[in-house]
Amino acid sequence: MSTEVITTSGSDRYHAREDCDWYQAGRRGSEAQGYRLHEPTWTSVAEAEAAGRTACGNCVTGSAHA
Ligand SMILES: [Zn+2]
Repeated sequence: MSTEVITTSGSDRYHAREDCDWYQAGRRGSEAQGYRLHEPTWTSVAEAEAAGRTACGNCVTGSAHA
């Protein structure tokens, strides 16, 4: 089983779920400030970490469930 995660070019984190509160909050914040939204990219954890991303503390390593 390979775990896929979401990264964006504008974030230094990767997320396990597209409905992650932190991920969604980041997108809303960017929109509110008029930034162009970065396209999410699905990739493997290994690739995300190789690219310098760190695990989201909410949806990857956190115990919080929405
Ligand atoms: Zn997350």
